[in-house]
Amino acid sequence: MTLQGIGASDGIGLGKVLPVRPASLDYSAVVSGGPETERSRLTAAIQRFTETTTAMAESLRADVGEKESEILTGQVVMLSDPFMQSQMTDCIDGGQCAEAAVDQVCSSFMAMFAGVDDEMMRQRATDIGDIRSRMLSILLGREATDLSRLPENTVLVVHDLTPSMTVGMDRQHVAAIVTEVGGRTSHSAILARAMEVPAVLSVANVVDTLAEGQDIIVDGTAGVVLTEFDETTRQQYEAKRAEYLHQRELLNVYRDRPTVDADGNHYGLYANIGSAAEAQAAADAGAEGIGLFRTEFLFMDRTAAPTEEEQYEAYAAVAKTMAGKEVIIRTLDVGGDKAVDYLEMEPEENPFLGHRAIRYCLDRADLFRVQLRALLRAGAVGKNIKIMLPLVTSVEEIRKAKALLEECKTELQAEGKAFDAEISVGIMIETPAAAWIADLLALECDFFSIGTNDLTQYTMAVDRGNAKVAGLYDTLHPAVLRSIRSVIAAAKAAKIPVGMCGEAAADPRLTPLLLTWGLDEFSVSASSVLATRAQIHRWHRNDAEIVTEHAMDCATAAAVAERLSQ
Ligand code: PEP
Ligand code: MG
Repeated sequence: MTLQGIGASDGIGLGKVLPVRPASLDYSAVVSGGPETERSRLTAAIQRFTETTTAMAESLRADVGEKESEILTGQVVMLSDPFMQSQMTDCIDGGQCAEAAVDQVCSSFMAMFAGVDDEMMRQRATDIGDIRSRMLSILLGREATDLSRLPENTVLVVHDLTPSMTVGMDRQHVAAIVTEVGGRTSHSAILARAMEVPAVLSVANVVDTLAEGQDIIVDGTAGVVLTEFDETTRQQYEAKRAEYLHQRELLNVYRDRPTVDADGNHYGLYANIGSAAEAQAAADAGAEGIGLFRTEFLFMDRTAAPTEEEQYEAYAAVAKTMAGKEVIIRTLDVGGDKAVDYLEMEPEENPFLGHRAIRYCLDRADLFRVQLRALLRAGAVGKNIKIMLPLVTSVEEIRKAKALLEECKTELQAEGKAFDAEISVGIMIETPAAAWIADLLALECDFFSIGTNDLTQYTMAVDRGNAKVAGLYDTLHPAVLRSIRSVIAAAKAAKIPVGMCGEAAADPRLTPLLLTWGLDEFSVSASSVLATRAQIHRWHRNDAEIVTEHAMDCATAAAVAERLSQ
């Protein structure tokens, strides 16, 4: 059987299905088996928690580092606290099941720690939240599938790929990923590309219909999944896979070359990352800087916001890894499709048009200040960090964010902490409003980066994650192209640099247009760096200009696509 989905990360993977089901921690159906039974269930669960957590800490120590591993050993110590345990047994003696005892005691500890205005204490709250989830999954017998040791050629079949799944994942043995939701610009797509694993998204109900161990072929380039096939088909796909890998091998010659077009004009070629750890992969891939650090990943899959210290560590680590090269860090972009449970964002009728990104941050100055302070301090490390604001639609938003930034500088100054007083502040252009007033916005900030993923969504009025209207989501639509052209022109007129960090920056069909209009910097996923450099190398300005003229004469996205693929 052939299943059609959305090709979100190139390449071909052949292997065996491993369905990964999210563990539900709902224990409302559990009834207490009496104090004695529940006490021994609790003791057994604590023992299991201690064993598995210690094992995880050891493997982290070997693979990642001492510090990360200490977080886990710290959790073992916290749970062994006699006071905490006696509170749990009190609940059990009062007639509760072990699950309710763990939930109630952990929640009250979390509330206590979260309320204290101290970074260390807030970190404790996060740790206790982790303890609670893992203890509940042990008690309920719903421990998450262990992704840290996988058989060779595993094809992960999941509802949605989350950042926490990728932490500690045995990536080497992941042949491909198939998900039930998401589009080319969704976060699961971004994660899959960062891991360089072929992926097909938005294949309905696969988690329940595919059997564990079943043979499967995933063509991430074509967006196709084959679940029944004969030997000849298998061999054809093996050959296609080998050819794909060979072509990627050939791109290696571009690793140490400058990013220049065929006439020798230079461009910046940066990478998009979602964690400090990805910066090294970006540097190894030949990126000349970081054009977008999606900091929301630092806030996801946890129970409390990262502290100033944690954020500082992450930003400073990237600044160090990039050794003087520019690092553009985007402030928290939550809301829309990016939910963060503990931020308790209210459900909205239209989340993409709602309280998200810069709008949310300006209303949550408490949260925003922590991030701005961390960014300012990390800026002192290599003087290479720039701040970027997402989803800007007005001049006021920039002014308000900059006013807060100034207040943070004053605070840091008074505290005698090192920070970058000259840090640059730029904005993402990802709404039609921003595109139309790009000339005015350019007067208020130091640089632009065009976020075509959202700019396409908002220009076309098409939800970027909705598979039903995916056919209407097209960056090649003349409306989007005109928008990009005028934004670049506005930046040029104002003499500020303009980059592009949406997926379109890596689309080879758009390269001649972006070169013609004078885009300064392309920021793409680490896996697309070399291919993008190769594309830029191909073009003489004259040829690019002719192609651009033809493309901009077209009336439809389909006509543009046809012109550009010729
Ligand atoms: C964009 O919108 O183009 C972008 C780069 O940001 P994100 O994909 O994270 O929304
Ligand atoms: Mg965006």
